[in-house]
Amino acid sequence: MPKKASPTFVCPVCESAVLTEPARSAKTGGGSFEICPCCGFQHGVDDDDKGITHAQARAAWRKAGAKWTSKTQPPPKGWAKTR
Ligand SMILES: [Zn+2]
Repeated sequence: MPKKASPTFVCPVCESAVLTEPARSAKTGGGSFEICPCCGFQHGVDDDDKGITHAQARAAWRKAGAKWTSKTQPPPKGWAKTR
């Protein structure tokens, strides 16, 4: 039986379940290169290449108002309530 793909994975920065794949591969440890539509963090780039920790990114995102950042993808229903 093929495993059914889960539509959402939790972003380790903003803790919203909005990613289409895990932020970091359990197999390789590599980042997904997916940009979180919520906080805008690009996993595998902002952390690995730029050296920004999840805690730093979370603090910066919260300081900026903890807003939804994607202009092309709307937040899922009930997103605001989960924060
Ligand atoms: Zn995020």
